[in-house]
Amino acid sequence: MDRPLIFQGGYCRQLERISNKNGAFKMIKFPALFFLLNHPEKGYILFDTGYSHHFMDAVKKFPNIIYSLLTPVSFKEENSALSQLEKRGIRAEDIRYVFISHFHADHIAGLSDFKKATFICSKKAYESIQGKKGFSALRQAFIPELIPADFYSRVQFIEDSQLLNPKTNLLNDFCSIFGDVYDLFGDNVFLSVDLTGHASGQYGLLFNGEKPTFFIADACWNKDCYRRKSFPSRLAHLIMNDPEMYKTNVDKIHQFYTLYPEMEIIPSHCSLSHTDGEGFHD
Ligand SMILES: [Zn+2]
Repeated sequence: MDRPLIFQGGYCRQLERISNKNGAFKMIKFPALFFLLNHPEKGYILFDTGYSHHFMDAVKKFPNIIYSLLTPVSFKEENSALSQLEKRGIRAEDIRYVFISHFHADHIAGLSDFKKATFICSKKAYESIQGKKGFSALRQAFIPELIPADFYSRVQFIEDSQLLNPKTNLLNDFCSIFGDVYDLFGDNVFLSVDLTGHASGQYGLLFNGEKPTFFIADACWNKDCYRRKSFPSRLAHLIMNDPEMYKTNVDKIHQFYTLYPEMEIIPSHCSLSHTDGEGFHD
């Protein structure tokens, strides 16, 4: 089984103080990462997509323009998931699944580029954005134009998967910390857990390959958060769906990290130089 690959699909700028309570009141780069995983039978699976030209087009219009004024985005076509995968000889139609951690625009902006993919997301997350438009969408950092018209006919909900029957100590520990763990393909490889807090129905994914890697999306914005439980400032509560659940889930990730300190646990907005895996990205 190949090791996961990390990509950066553009970045935005945001106040450092929001992501770190000891941070400065200055704008810092906030990379939008996405990940490529390869399953021996199921093929390529993308974890989120980063930004895309669909996003850049959508934020030209009101009220979406407010989104790009609050968090100014830097993106070039060569940063898109589509372009970066093509450069590696992977065509859009080779992507069989796109796992959507949550529906914030920086995670779903490339969905329309993968026309053959099945989307995997949580029903809870989908219901939280379904039918939202204009300001009510924007309040959830959601841009409805980024959802392909045939989305519903191509979606597979995480909660409809079977629950994990853990066969190793690692997976036993994972289940006892996180509770319900969904085994997406029933083979102990793609294991998904609810990390609600930052967004309703945000799900993380433990890729239980040769070198297990836990993708935690925006449950934390950097590794310090789960390593030292250094929580973002109260300012960040303004953009959190549920600050209490946020803390509960950071606690769980911290417990898991304490048991498995060598494990790659990757937040979606950590800087690439802060990911430790040797040869893990290039
Ligand atoms: Zn988010």
